[in-house]
Amino acid sequence: MRMTASPSPTPMPMPALDRILFASSNPHKLNEVRAILEPLGFHVDGLDALPAIPPEPDEDEETFEGNARLKALFYARTTGRPCLADDSGLEVDALGGAPGVRSARYAGAGGTRAERDRANNERLLRDLAHVPPAQRSARFVCAMCLAAPDGRILAESRGTFEGTIIDTPRGTHGFGYDPLLLVPDAGCTSAELPPEDKNRRSHRGAAARGVARALGR
Ligand code: IMP
Repeated sequence: MRMTASPSPTPMPMPALDRILFASSNPHKLNEVRAILEPLGFHVDGLDALPAIPPEPDEDEETFEGNARLKALFYARTTGRPCLADDSGLEVDALGGAPGVRSARYAGAGGTRAERDRANNERLLRDLAHVPPAQRSARFVCAMCLAAPDGRILAESRGTFEGTIIDTPRGTHGFGYDPLLLVPDAGCTSAELPPEDKNRRSHRGAAARGVARALGR
């Protein structure tokens, strides 16, 4: 009997990736990702570049990677554009990794972004009130996923940014928990680092450069 080889599937062409959509409504994250990826040759659009912004999907996965993938696939499918998503948060060892994937809504979902950030920081300090400084190790984690409109995952990466949590917020740059994460070798908080220094050291910087590397940039 003569065997006929089935034709090998033609690989799907890579979509053009010079212009990508960053699926986040957080303007701070968008600024950081632009500053990191644009020098590497990507033009990064925010959701505000869309004629209509699709409603956000529920981030109901238990991992940063799961939520980043969920967001990237959702926005790539609904917009028809290659889409990069970031899911990030703070892991505190003394709290068993909390707030983790629930970092954005640690103290509740109401109010403006600035009000939520303030309430989250206050809750973090309450939860750590009896934890001595030497046991306050923590890190920001960022998972990134780039998805194509046909459902392919084009790149995934993760970055971390180590520090310890202090009692009094310091610094005016950044957002979220930045004023509470002391970066020991920098001798200042993440919110005291100039933006380009934060991007060079941060979880988001490492994750975005990982995506760029996976695409050969
Ligand atoms: P996401 O939008 O679900 O990824 O939520 C991320 C949350 O984690 C933010 O609202 C912040 O509270 C926190 N977070 C993530 N990255 C950073 C950072 O770079 N600095 C400070 N807080 C961050």
